[in-house]
Amino acid sequence: MMTDNNPWTRAQKQLQTAAKNFPIDPMLLARLQNPDRIVEVSVPLSMDDGSINVYQGFRVQHNNILGPYKGGLRYHPRVDMDEVKALSFWMTIKNAVVGVPFGGGKGGVNVDPKKLSAGELERLTREFTRKLFPVIGPEIDVPAPDVNTNGKIMAWILDEYSKLAGHETPAVVTGKPLERGGSLGRPEATGLGGSYALLSILKMMRKRPEGLTVAIQGFGNVGSYLAEYLHEAGLKVVALSDSKGGIYVPAGIASIHEVQRCKEKSGKIGGCYCIGSVCDLSNMKKLGGREISSEKILELPVDILVPAALENALTKENAKKIKASIILEMANGPTTAEADAIFKSKGIIVIPDVLANSGGVAVSYFEWYQNVHKKHWGKKDVFKKLKGKMERACEKVHDISLRYKVPLREAAYISALKSLSEKNAGAHKASARKKRR
Ligand code: GLU
Repeated sequence: MMTDNNPWTRAQKQLQTAAKNFPIDPMLLARLQNPDRIVEVSVPLSMDDGSINVYQGFRVQHNNILGPYKGGLRYHPRVDMDEVKALSFWMTIKNAVVGVPFGGGKGGVNVDPKKLSAGELERLTREFTRKLFPVIGPEIDVPAPDVNTNGKIMAWILDEYSKLAGHETPAVVTGKPLERGGSLGRPEATGLGGSYALLSILKMMRKRPEGLTVAIQGFGNVGSYLAEYLHEAGLKVVALSDSKGGIYVPAGIASIHEVQRCKEKSGKIGGCYCIGSVCDLSNMKKLGGREISSEKILELPVDILVPAALENALTKENAKKIKASIILEMANGPTTAEADAIFKSKGIIVIPDVLANSGGVAVSYFEWYQNVHKKHWGKKDVFKKLKGKMERACEKVHDISLRYKVPLREAAYISALKSLSEKNAGAHKASARKKRR
């Protein structure tokens, strides 16, 4: 792996850059440079054909100064320790930026879930949960969905954990189905939070959102809701893609919902040109659209570019070809350090992942809170609280960016380091008082 593409090396560089502008206690810096705990487990799985495969599972508990470790579990063949370490570090920063009382954690299994049957996926998840049981729990470490994982998988984790704990423990995971203690609004949260973040930053830049063009790479849970909400807010979504490719309609995609339905039916976005409820390739010419690859979508002449798929989408190779003036990072770690430097020199505004996609974990916190306090909030209430959290976080980061004259990513890190330092100092004072007694 090239150094620039190694997410853990990059995460460390980002931390060092921020710590130059906002010096922190050396002990705190050392803690942030080294995850609290790294757990690696083996996950043997008996396949439907009788053979046995063994997968590697990871959980990195990066830091718990602000609260229990919190972050998703991903199933992907590319999952490795450096990736999970970086993702867990970004969760520590993200949770501090959006203001939830959680630390940072992340985990995953290096498996391609698309190659597993439903039964194999369930057995894999249950075995992984048994292996993680000693290190997770509502007050210890609370997993959630991430790439290729969902509510159903969270429900299996909840089942298996509850069996071992001896009682139903809904607060051990978030992103659960409603009937298992999930929160209304959690499926929409990351995408909706991203739209709140973008609108709020645009407002501070005194830019009107109406008519701004948007291209989105990634049409999973995050990209699809985001597209819907941006469309609703009056922006013009012109291009959408998934891993197999996508569509570009310069005049604007009329209905995100129809594209979504078409993708569900055909398994891909390519060809989903919709006129009314009829979506197929034959409409392409009529709409003046064309097919586009998931790499080329990044280089379209749009106002706002949204990488909402995996890490390292924007690299030094394609950064110079980016025409958007704003990048909304909905994936975690989509921009390499070299690409980031190019965007800075070109004056492209990057709304960083740790701010842009923090709506997901914000509503995870609401879910956890409702579980712990046995409450049920309505969807409107959840959305209102989410909006408040996103707007406050954006204002804070924007202010810091002006005051320190740094890009939004560095500002977000400074905002996080401030919260972590305050909590850390508070904890030290309390322990010094105890010692004196
Ligand atoms: N996987 C999501 C993220 O990267 C959500 C994590 C959570 O809700 O704990 O932010």
